[in-house]
Amino acid sequence: MHYCPNSSYRWHRKEVHSARAMAEEETSCLFCQISKDPASTHTDLLYSDESVVAFQDIKPAAFRHYLVIPVQHIPTTRDLRRRSEDYQLVSHMLSVGQNLLFKDAPSSKTEFGFHQPPFNSVNHLHLHCLALPFIPRWKFTKYWASGSDGRFVVANKLLKRIKPDEIQAETGSVSQDLSEPSNLKRIKKFPARLFHWNRRSAA
Ligand SMILES: [Zn+2]
Ligand SMILES: [Zn+2]
Repeated sequence: MHYCPNSSYRWHRKEVHSARAMAEEETSCLFCQISKDPASTHTDLLYSDESVVAFQDIKPAAFRHYLVIPVQHIPTTRDLRRRSEDYQLVSHMLSVGQNLLFKDAPSSKTEFGFHQPPFNSVNHLHLHCLALPFIPRWKFTKYWASGSDGRFVVANKLLKRIKPDEIQAETGSVSQDLSEPSNLKRIKKFPARLFHWNRRSAA
């Protein structure tokens, strides 16, 4: 059981997800398999670095529909915290998705966001990157951020939620950079050392 309706769940993740439970979840996780051994899953990666990989959604709902996932097994948006490492990771995922769609669908309207539990299909964090139109047209309901049930949260809104104070204090914040279509050089320039942390050993 991955989703616990108890609202205190998010504050007690460590107890619920013991190291062993997390390890078991990882070995049975399709997205972990894709990020660690894409060939075994017959997945063509559109992009990869040491912290994220990107590939096409297996059931595309739009003209272009990509997923960007962290290499590390993070189950859902509920497992993200207001802290620099999570903020940097989601910023990087968004930047990668923006670059891919800017390259592959330069004239399309785009949307970027996450399904929130229990509406997420796979328990491994994944950013939906959509270049419109939706195909078929009614598919937009699944990715409709203004719905009151909160099933889909747009990436910038999630970033606001997990933005730590020290980043807010900086001038020229990351989110301002992200509002413009970023260029492909940004991916290469991204400092890899930011992702040499180990979530489970972190306090
Ligand atoms: Zn996983
Ligand atoms: Zn999803």
